[in-house]
Amino acid sequence: MDLLEEGLARFLRERLPQPLKLTLTDNRRALFSYRRRPDGVGELRLARYFALADRETLDALAAYLTGEIPRLPSSVRAFADRQLPPASLIRQARLKARPAGEHFDLSEVVGRVLARFFPQMRPVSITWGRRPSALRRRAGKRTIQLGSYRPDDDLVTIHPALDAPYVPPVYLEMVVFHELLHRQQAQTTPPGVRPRLVHDRRFRVAERLFEGYEEALRWEKAHLSRLLSDRSAAKK
Ligand SMILES: [Zn+2]
Repeated sequence: MDLLEEGLARFLRERLPQPLKLTLTDNRRALFSYRRRPDGVGELRLARYFALADRETLDALAAYLTGEIPRLPSSVRAFADRQLPPASLIRQARLKARPAGEHFDLSEVVGRVLARFFPQMRPVSITWGRRPSALRRRAGKRTIQLGSYRPDDDLVTIHPALDAPYVPPVYLEMVVFHELLHRQQAQTTPPGVRPRLVHDRRFRVAERLFEGYEEALRWEKAHLSRLLSDRSAAKK
């Protein structure tokens, strides 16, 4: 279990009658099953992605499981639905994605970042951007915009300027990590609210959890002018 899953397990143990046998599943269709065995042990099987749910969603889920409320609240279902963007859109994005570059295969890069930092997160579509667009600085920030995440079809796009031999893997991984944090923001946005993918204080703190953050920023600073001006890698 990772930290988020441990937090989820602790929450459920506090809220549900004991003894409780909890199993986290990778099932994306069945949200949960809960039953009391004749010997009094409660058996709860719960989709792993609930580790990403906010407090209100979990409160609603617990209230339903304990019988305090008779129907599963729509907020819980809405949360689960957001873990599964419309299948057709996701399929399209995956089909159109071009993760294999000349120097880097993004599916390998994202695989490493997911395994290391987001073991509870399901796989994501990732692609090199098609059109080279001018790189620009993020408004008022130290860094430049080299990636983006689109919640609608669950797609991470990386600027083709980074598909170059002088770019170190740690830097590319940091850019991917940044976009996966935005994905996490989108997945923890309350029901019915358009996700705001912002660099707030919480985001900045999370961003520093990336091992190699300082190293990657140092590299970016040293190569900023080249990234901003040298478009040769992007013109291919
Ligand atoms: Zn960002």
